[in-house]
Amino acid sequence: MTAREDAHEAAPERPAPRCPVCGRPRMDRWRPFCSKRCADADLGRWLGEAYRIPAVEAALEEGDARAMGPEET
Ligand SMILES: [Zn+2]
Repeated sequence: MTAREDAHEAAPERPAPRCPVCGRPRMDRWRPFCSKRCADADLGRWLGEAYRIPAVEAALEEGDARAMGPEET
């Protein structure tokens, strides 16, 4: 049985691509992740950061409007 050895030699050794979320071998269906769970986790992280920015801007606008108000005693 040498066919198996030949196939092993012909196949180049390359590191398996890993899921960037949990580090497990990735699946073609969910690449670059290993599962829907990891894909959702990464997407949720991005959305969370995107939502945080407008919230900060709104807070700053509120502060400006307050500072611009005339102060008379
Ligand atoms: Zn994963």
